[in-house]
Amino acid sequence: MSVRIIGPVTLCIFATLIGALFVLISTGSTYAGVACGLVGLFVTAFMYDSAVHGVIRDDASPSSPTIVPPADAVDLLDRPEIDALIEALPQPALIISAGRIARANRAALALLGHHVRGEDVRLAIRHPAVTQHLVGERAGSETVQMELVGIGAANQSWELRIAPLSPNRQIVLLTDQSARQAAEKMRVDFVANASHELRTPLAGILGFIETLKDREAGGDVATRERFLSIMDGEARRMQRLVDDLMSLSRIEAEKFRMPEQMVDIAALAQETASVFHSAGHARAQDISLDLDLSCPPIRGDSAQMNQLIHNLVSNAFKYGRPGTPVTVTVHRDGPDAIQLTVSDEGDGIAPEHLPRLTERFYRVDASRSKAAGGTGLGLAIVKHIVERHRGRLQIESIVGRGTTVSVTLPVPENNSVRPPIASATTRQEALSHK
Ligand code: ADP
Repeated sequence: MSVRIIGPVTLCIFATLIGALFVLISTGSTYAGVACGLVGLFVTAFMYDSAVHGVIRDDASPSSPTIVPPADAVDLLDRPEIDALIEALPQPALIISAGRIARANRAALALLGHHVRGEDVRLAIRHPAVTQHLVGERAGSETVQMELVGIGAANQSWELRIAPLSPNRQIVLLTDQSARQAAEKMRVDFVANASHELRTPLAGILGFIETLKDREAGGDVATRERFLSIMDGEARRMQRLVDDLMSLSRIEAEKFRMPEQMVDIAALAQETASVFHSAGHARAQDISLDLDLSCPPIRGDSAQMNQLIHNLVSNAFKYGRPGTPVTVTVHRDGPDAIQLTVSDEGDGIAPEHLPRLTERFYRVDASRSKAAGGTGLGLAIVKHIVERHRGRLQIESIVGRGTTVSVTLPVPENNSVRPPIASATTRQEALSHK
């Protein structure tokens, strides 16, 4: 029993005894005195029980449990979880207290510099809108979100979010928007480019139709034949473009699905060459094959691999000098990979163009590409196929000498047993699709 309960209990017992004696003397009844004593003892027992079970609290007692102040009484910044919490955030995060940077995670320090710790937020983030929401009159009143440039690299743009924590404290989160905006720009550019590529031949076709509708011009057989031949060429160009656009979107849709077939690249290269021969391609006899037919198969999509070889050989035909060899090789590249190369002897490509060749619709010489029936999508398709197969694409070129495109593809670990490869018919169909 604690010190503070001893007083009232002793008083109760004493009062009980006095009360019982008084009743006994005044009534002369022993029973009444005993009854009064029992009532007093009952009240005393009740008080003791209440004290032990907590109805009466004895805070001064050394044996009473330690009193933990409510969680919100501990300063937020003194809580160990707060550092772990902001460090767990992947984007730059700051806690602002009374206009100063009280906490900053590693990403924020990398972005703003280590000197910002404890610094006035107006110096750390020099932006009027930020200042207004972090130290102005409206600071801490509401959650604010805004776009921001001028922090980090020059071309970076950020989404800044300020959320109040307490009247003079806020958390600031910065999310890099550059990649999202670049992807959005690419999408917009792609739609604009594709529309432009389709509109040009379409405008030509419509113009010739108008002319042919004219009795005088359309009546002339020679003129009509010439116009119809141009219209045919333009319509086929549109068809190739639509085919390539559809291929590209199919390949992109399957980007994250690993191919399941086993494909023999050397056999596929051999077959592609024979398709060019049987189709009577003007440069089919220029193909020179150097294939290691013992190369293990790779895990791949045979239709896409076919398209890849076809696109590279077509480019070598288009941009190599007529009559010079187009060499196709397939060899092992170490124990875990095979390498396909397609080389031509042509004008080559200047180094400044090399990094951009796989962009959609990027051409070194647009009129030459169009005259040769190019869509500007051939290498973009190749790049996406290589990416889907977890391979590597390399383009090397010497101006005036020629170009070599290399594709390195991983061989699956367990390649000792060669499962049946995709049928020749499937590959033939895929090739004629292009
Ligand atoms: P295209 O349909 O125009 O050939 P590609 O995407 O296949 O489109 O190629 C993009 C550009 O790269 C071509 O327009 C051409 O300028 C250049 N190029 C591609 N392959 C070769 C090559 N073997 N030799 C020289 N230039 C090439």
